[in-house]
Amino acid sequence: MIRVGSGFDVHAFGSGDHVMLGGVRVPHEAGVVAHSDGDVLLHALTDALLGAGGLGDIGQHFPDSDPRWRGAASGQFLRHAVSLLEQHGYRVINADLTLLCEAPRLAAHRAVIRESVARLLGVALDAVNLKATTTEKMGFLGRREGIAAEAVVLIERR
Ligand code: MG
Repeated sequence: MIRVGSGFDVHAFGSGDHVMLGGVRVPHEAGVVAHSDGDVLLHALTDALLGAGGLGDIGQHFPDSDPRWRGAASGQFLRHAVSLLEQHGYRVINADLTLLCEAPRLAAHRAVIRESVARLLGVALDAVNLKATTTEKMGFLGRREGIAAEAVVLIERR
């Protein structure tokens, strides 16, 4: 059986000099406002994994009211979702991620982020795709007020 899941996440820019993307520290003119490390790519991907498994969402598993997750590395959220899926007999087939922002630009960081995400998921490099788009300067993303990500994953149980 195969199942699909989708995820979406947004964080506002705030004070700081970098953003975390796919577990990689990317220099930027701002940081993000977040309880955890605010990694939009990993949050969207974690939600997609939980969605594919019929396991709810990231807020249910890691409430931002819980001090345990303050400043947490979002890789641990992702690993938890993968291990929940494994407990249910699923493995990840592939993940397709889209980053939405005017900045930072992804090009210089794409390869290392892709590697990082593949490692966290425990899949081959070619099972992870990473795309980026601007919103043509429109809306809150276009005004550089924040950063968003979308994720789709396919999982399989044999
Ligand atoms: Mg988030």
